[in-house]
Amino acid sequence: MDAAETGTGAGAGAGADVLTACDLYRFYRTGEEETLALRGVSLRVRRGETVAVTGPSGSGKSTLLACLAGLDEPDGGVVHVGGERISHRPEAERARVRARRIGVLLQSGNLLPHLDLRANIRLAQSAARALGNRGSEAWVLLDRVGLPARGRALPRELAGGELARAGLAVALANDPDILLADEPTGELDGRTEQRILELLRERAHAGAGVLLVTHSVEVVRTADRVITLRDGRIRP
Ligand code: ADP
Repeated sequence: MDAAETGTGAGAGAGADVLTACDLYRFYRTGEEETLALRGVSLRVRRGETVAVTGPSGSGKSTLLACLAGLDEPDGGVVHVGGERISHRPEAERARVRARRIGVLLQSGNLLPHLDLRANIRLAQSAARALGNRGSEAWVLLDRVGLPARGRALPRELAGGELARAGLAVALANDPDILLADEPTGELDGRTEQRILELLRERAHAGAGVLLVTHSVEVVRTADRVITLRDGRIRP
């Protein structure tokens, strides 16, 4: 484990590891040029804790999140989620681990525009249900994120704060062991940011791990631990 991981909050050490990443490397080659986006990143997230990943633009945060979620393959190193390896497996197997164990909230959004919120949630649940993971009913999830009456709304009918909460409901639809989120409170007003952070804390208290890529001072302040990336490495 990297010495740069600092335990600062009550959640540190509280539970078993739900996600481990060991010595991750990721290179990108464009023509003659090679970018080392990740250079030996190791970390872990325990059940019940919230970890914030921060660092300047280009430091490797999005690449790390994609490798942890099994959306991208590291060139070196290994990622385990809930004891199952997700790295270096065929795409279908990575998708299965993701459907069963991981909630992903990306900046690009995770809602299909032509489906209402209920249908978006049910779609996210369908793969997980086939694997025996029931998840909560759509109305329960929408109620939990403060959108009890919006099940029939299309994403384009929602205001910014509502959209962020709807995205979170979809990310939580499979009752994940770990939630991985890229800037979940980016461009939200303070009140909505607080609401989202409360929901994430609830999730952690219920026993999930939460890892957030963020620039928000408020998110960093409320996290149990902070990991800072610089040039593809965890900063000491
Ligand atoms: P961050 O999320 O911290 O801004 P990224 O993970 O997006 O950082 O990028 C890390 C480095 O990898 C940057 O130098 C970026 O230009 C490079 N990079 C990211 N994705 C690609 C890609 N698909 N092809 C080439 N280079 C990439």
